[in-house]
Amino acid sequence: MATLFTPWRYEYIKRKAREDGCFFCAAAADCDDAERLVVFATSHHLVMLNRHPYTNGHLMVAPLAHLASPRDEEGAAAAELWPLVLAVQEVLADDLAPDGFNLGLNLGSAAGAGVPGHFHFHVVPRWSGDTNFMGVVAGVRIVPQALDDSCRRLRRGFARFAADPRFTPALALAEAGEGGGEGR
Ligand SMILES: [Zn+2]
Repeated sequence: MATLFTPWRYEYIKRKAREDGCFFCAAAADCDDAERLVVFATSHHLVMLNRHPYTNGHLMVAPLAHLASPRDEEGAAAAELWPLVLAVQEVLADDLAPDGFNLGLNLGSAAGAGVPGHFHFHVVPRWSGDTNFMGVVAGVRIVPQALDDSCRRLRRGFARFAADPRFTPALALAEAGEGGGEGR
């Protein structure tokens, strides 16, 4: 059975985010807030920038629901995960022209998952010789302005997938930096 995105579920996700302090759940509850760095969202998944990136353009694909593993997904959610990962790779290839990519999942604390209860697929663009850069950047908070710029540009990059039939209906996101929100 496909799981549908419903208002009661949205309320549940919001409550869960408050209770657990899970930042993927917090982002799922508030995709449009530019502060959350979400660049694309369907009815089942979101794509967001990593605030502590491995390299420039490091994106993560996560379910809106608090699920520990892709094996917990069913129906439409399960069907769109891989096409969505490839869509993320396509947008980054066009936007940043990297020399390569790391695509991957860390499931469970033993495997290095930072948020073990909420799985997230990493899509990391790589450049020849970027290892020194990574040593400097990994784990370091980059300037918010750079993240805002990336967020705005990538939201435009994902516009081509807004009506893509492979994905459940996309949630409309305003262009980052527009309109306000609560941004703190
Ligand atoms: Zn969560």
